[in-house]
Order: sequence, then C-alpha cells, then structure tokens
Amino acid sequence: MLTVNAWAAPSAADPLVKTTIERRDVGPHDVLIEIAYAGICHSDIHTVRGEWGDISYPQVVGHEIAGTVTEVGSEVTLHAVGDRVGVGCMVNSCRECENCLAGAEQYCLTGNTGTYTAIDRDGTITQGGYSTHIVVVEDFVLRIPDAIPFEKVAPLLCAGITTYSPLQHWNAGPGKRVAVVGMGGLGHMAVKIAAALGAEVTVLSQTLSKKDDGLAFGAQHYFATSDRQTFTDLANHFDLIINTVSAEININHYLRLLRLNGTLVSVGAPPEALPVQAFTLFNNRRSFAGSGIGSIAETQEMLDFCAEHGIAPETELISADQINEAYERVLASDVRYRFVIDVATMA
Ligand code: NAP
Ligand code: ZN
Ligand code: ZN
Repeated sequence: MLTVNAWAAPSAADPLVKTTIERRDVGPHDVLIEIAYAGICHSDIHTVRGEWGDISYPQVVGHEIAGTVTEVGSEVTLHAVGDRVGVGCMVNSCRECENCLAGAEQYCLTGNTGTYTAIDRDGTITQGGYSTHIVVVEDFVLRIPDAIPFEKVAPLLCAGITTYSPLQHWNAGPGKRVAVVGMGGLGHMAVKIAAALGAEVTVLSQTLSKKDDGLAFGAQHYFATSDRQTFTDLANHFDLIINTVSAEININHYLRLLRLNGTLVSVGAPPEALPVQAFTLFNNRRSFAGSGIGSIAETQEMLDFCAEHGIAPETELISADQINEAYERVLASDVRYRFVIDVATMA
C-alpha cells in the first residue's frame, strides 16, 4: 500500500479538505502514475454534493488526470516509466459483456468501474484524481501526445471525449449545422472539436458575454438563450444539438430548433428529469439522445485528433487550496473554461 496526499469531500455539505488515502500495490498489469494535473469537472460537484444519489464519505473525486508513469507491473507492455499518460472517467470494466466485446466498455453492462465512487475489483471504493498518485490497470491508461501542452491536457480525458464521441457518432462535419448549448468545460471543447471536424457551429449560451471567445474557438454564430427571439430565429435549423447544460432546462424549446431528422444529444446530467413533449419529436422526425464519455480506443483517437489539429482546452491553473472556491465559480458559470489543479501543490 502507498499512502498519498489527496483532497476529499468529508460530506455532501462540507468543503473539500486535505487528507491522505491508500493506493494499492502495483500489480502485474498496473501502472503507478504520479499525477501532475487534475481537471475539475461539473460531475465532481454533482457527485460530492450527493446530487446524483448517496455516496460514502470521505470521497476523493477527479476524473481528468494527467501524470507521469513512475512504476510498472511485471506484465505491463503498453506504458513505460517516464511516459506522460492520462486517466479519464473509468479505470476498468468486465471485459466480457456484449458492450465490452464491442469496444464500448463505457457502456459495460455490469457498469464500468468509475474512477471514483465505484466498487473496485478488490472491493474498495475507487478514489479519483485530486491526489498525488493513482494505480490503474494498463489498458485504461491513455498516451498523451507531446503536441498537447501537459498542463492543459487533463480536461480532454472527460470534457474532450464526452463531446468528441457524440460529434463523431452523429457525423458532425462539413455541411452539418451543429449547435452547442452551454459554453462551459464540455461546451467549449464541443465548439473546438465540431469546428475542427468542419461543421458550421453555433453556440447557444445564456448571455452574449462569452461571444468573442466562442467565435475564437471556431463557432460561426453565437446566440443568447435569455433572448426569446433566439428560439424563433433558429426554429427548424440544426442537424445536431449537443446539450452540455448542468442544470434543468426546458428541452422542448431546444428540440424545436432541429430540422428534419435532426438529433439533440444531452451530455449534461442535471439531477432533474428533462420531460419531452411527444409532438415536439413527431415534427421533423426528431430524435432525443444521450451519450456517456467514450471508449478507451475512442479516447486515444480523440487525444491524437486534438494533437493533430492543435486543439487544447482553455484552462485556469489553481492550487489545491483553491478547489472549493473553483467549485463556487463553476456553479456560477464563471469558468473560463476549465479549472485544472496543479497537483504539486498537494505535496
Ligand atoms: P460547466 O463547466 O459548469 O458548464 C455547464 C454550462 O451550462 C455553463 O457554463 C453554462 O453555460 C450552462 N448553464 C449552467 N447553468 C445553466 C442554467 N441554469 N441554464 C442554462 N444554462 C446553464 O459544466 P461541465 O463540466 O461542462 O459539465 C456539464 C454537464 O455535463 C454536467 O451536468 C456534467 O455532470 C455533465 N457531464 C456528463 C458527461 C457524460 O458522460 N455525459 C461527462 C462529463 C460531464 P453558459 O454560461 O454558456 O450558458
Ligand atoms: Zn467529467
Ligand atoms: Zn462489460
């Protein structure tokens, strides 16, 4: 066992505090990673505050992890000491169900082993990336291309793959009108990736305050959803809408912006239901879909795609003692566009 520094939520109501946790010994197929950077995803906040259901405390979250391999198990072939690597939202899966065998282990029928709050193979509860080290089985560890700045890469491990996967699956590309709802951590990555895929990108944000940024990230159009006229002007317009909003919205208003055969994919995960009116879907034969992260192979593909296209997240580097303040800023939509913890400050 290795005792390492971490920042954990002691309860649903209290701020995160510095603590120590145990990491398992490096097994034959494991790698030990010294974590350098950990992104703050809105899912971390939903989780520690109990918004998605009860969890056991103390709990360390964080599933956007970038670090360096410092030890490998005797059977490891994919990674070597000194490699820059990443870990995202899952650290294992059953590897034998229909979905795992189809290369979609994020949809493992027994539930993938989440990087935090999941029951690990040894029966312990997984603890996430707000910590100095993590031990992960080698095939759930990603290679970080040199072309992506190390201090910016971590958010690709969740925000990047969660938007890349539906954009690819629903064929965002030249001739396709794609809207991104909410321009926070996921939203700003969706804009950059959709633009790199060649789609015509529109941002639907609550206000126009981030318009210059949205256009700089590659969007052609930018509208405020606080202006009701937006919903009239853009009716029956989009082929694909990626909803990244972390809060409850009236999804019917957005579905009506889809043209014939269009699809709205919700990746945002508010605790509330998003009720849909049947007639909203009948018109234009619209689809309402969801999507969860992406597979390991697809995550590697996304990292290589970002390296090739010069795409990196916009990040604000913080020290560990600023995590609680960062949470409040995320909740206030005051994030430009992802907080990344400098894990060296946990020493
Ligand atoms: P985030 O950085 O907080 O971004 C969410 C954005 O939603 C905000 O920046 C804001 O954009 C908009 N928004 C917030 N409150 C709103 C409201 N009341 N009405 C309208 N718009 C609002 O969060 P994130 O880290 O990108 O995560 C977004 C959601 O995706 C979370 O629910 C998270 O749990 C979920 N998620 C899902 C997956 C998956 O696999 N499906 C993976 C990761 C995260 P504007 O300021 O531009 O309006
Ligand atoms: Zn996430
Ligand atoms: Zn499985």
